[in-house]
Amino acid sequence: MDSTLAELAKLLGEDRLVSAAALAQRSTSYWNSKPMQAKAMLLPYSTEEVASILRWCNDNEQTVIIHGGLTNCVSAVEPNSGDIIVSLEKMNSIIEIDRVGGTAVVEGGAILQTVQERIAEEGLYFPLDLGARGSCTIGGNVATNAGGINVLRYGMMRNLVLGLEAVLADGTVVSSMNRMMKNNAGYDVKQLFIGSEGTLGVVTKVVLRLFPQPSSRQTSLVATDDFESVISLLHLLQNDLAGTLSAYEVMWGEYYRAVTKEDGHRAPLPRDYKFYAVVQADGCEQLADAERFESVLGEAMNAGLLLDAIIAKSDADSADIWKIRENFEPVLLPDPVYLYDVSLPIRDMATYGETVMRGVIEQWPDGRCYIMGHMADGNLHLFVQPYDDGDHHERANEIVYEPLREIGGSVSAEHGIGIEKLAWLPLSRTPTEISLMKLMKTSLDPKNILNRGRVLAD
Ligand SMILES: Cc1cc2nc3c(=O)[nH]c(=O)nc-3n(C[C@H](O)[C@H](O)[C@H](O)COP(=O)(O)OP(=O)(O)OC[C@H]3O[C@@H](n4cnc5c(N)ncnc54)[C@H](O)[C@@H]3O)c2cc1C
Repeated sequence: MDSTLAELAKLLGEDRLVSAAALAQRSTSYWNSKPMQAKAMLLPYSTEEVASILRWCNDNEQTVIIHGGLTNCVSAVEPNSGDIIVSLEKMNSIIEIDRVGGTAVVEGGAILQTVQERIAEEGLYFPLDLGARGSCTIGGNVATNAGGINVLRYGMMRNLVLGLEAVLADGTVVSSMNRMMKNNAGYDVKQLFIGSEGTLGVVTKVVLRLFPQPSSRQTSLVATDDFESVISLLHLLQNDLAGTLSAYEVMWGEYYRAVTKEDGHRAPLPRDYKFYAVVQADGCEQLADAERFESVLGEAMNAGLLLDAIIAKSDADSADIWKIRENFEPVLLPDPVYLYDVSLPIRDMATYGETVMRGVIEQWPDGRCYIMGHMADGNLHLFVQPYDDGDHHERANEIVYEPLREIGGSVSAEHGIGIEKLAWLPLSRTPTEISLMKLMKTSLDPKNILNRGRVLAD
């Protein structure tokens, strides 16, 4: 055993250490099936153990990569062979649920779906929801300021965290376990860690904000042929559904056709419309909510905003609709495919989509570009497939990102920067903002041991 590992094994015990050979049996991440490479992985069971690992690593200038559920989309968790991985997988407890205060305290490694289900058992609701719910962790959700399908109504992770505990690079434990909605006593320190992608500290505990459990849910798949109608329908639903609209996920026709092609998902609506949207409303009176939902969609149909629609009559129908939006594997094959997550004003989306699709076809005549996403949040996901074996990532980046410059968009709506988007950070942040980010990084992690080379280049 090399001397670093011998020291760490002494600190924690050998059973907390996964060797490089054992790591090579694991995949690097959800998106990257290459064997994981690192000096070793450490599995702390408590905040104190995280603190002692980081103290030792800081003293010895040992670089650390933090692992949650490994579902991020920006190559943020790929270690180098000289890195130590600190995985939160053993710190996955739900410590407390306070029904009166509407809060839950969970450890950073708790899986999102487990947390959602446990909270639902108490008759409460934690609204963060995304396709990776079965694998991603609350600590990873905090570190990436995750968004997902309910942002329209409940906000991103930043809005759902009341407090947290984090361990700094030198082992200092920062306890900011606020449980109150209001606390304006000086700077809101927890916000530093939310969305910082593990570059400023390891999130070990989180106080989540809970909501009443919706007792009725209406889901529909709708279709139309022009983007103006997609926008008008959103406004109509927001106004007429009495604030219950919780998801409005738009899919361009090319995406819908790709995921419902042979061997893909069942197509509940014909496959030749230009735009589709998954609409979901959460309320509290099943009968009245269902009637209102149907009547508003009828109104939209009469106004010509919709050409077709289907309303889910059961949980199974609803799951079938969501599969089309969330399970995009049929689009991802064959490789390579480049996934994007951009933010832009809603009014610019139709033109932006056309510009990118044209750019892809001009560059690769057989290429494809599929677009869908959290349109109501100003957030689109794009899948670019050059359909040829070369590495065209840089060229695809230019096609997708350059048009954002003029319209003031962002290269990351919710996935973060990681390593993948490092070169493009200046498109979305000013030089002063980036200098301030660097100042924060050097203040909290002067030896640059935590998630080195993520968010900010070395
Ligand atoms: C099918 C699918 C659908 C997705 N849909 C969405 C979506 O709708 N919205 C969305 O926002 N994202 C989405 N994602 C991306 C991903 O699920 C989120 O970014 C998620 O929040 C990552 O959580 P994780 O636990 O997997 O983190 P990881 O991938 O393990 O890590 C992400 C980053 O956070 C750091 N980190 C992890 N844990 C901690 C911790 N405890 N303390 C400090 N830093 C930490 C890591 O070092 C890394 O930089 C999707 C991913 C997939 C595969």
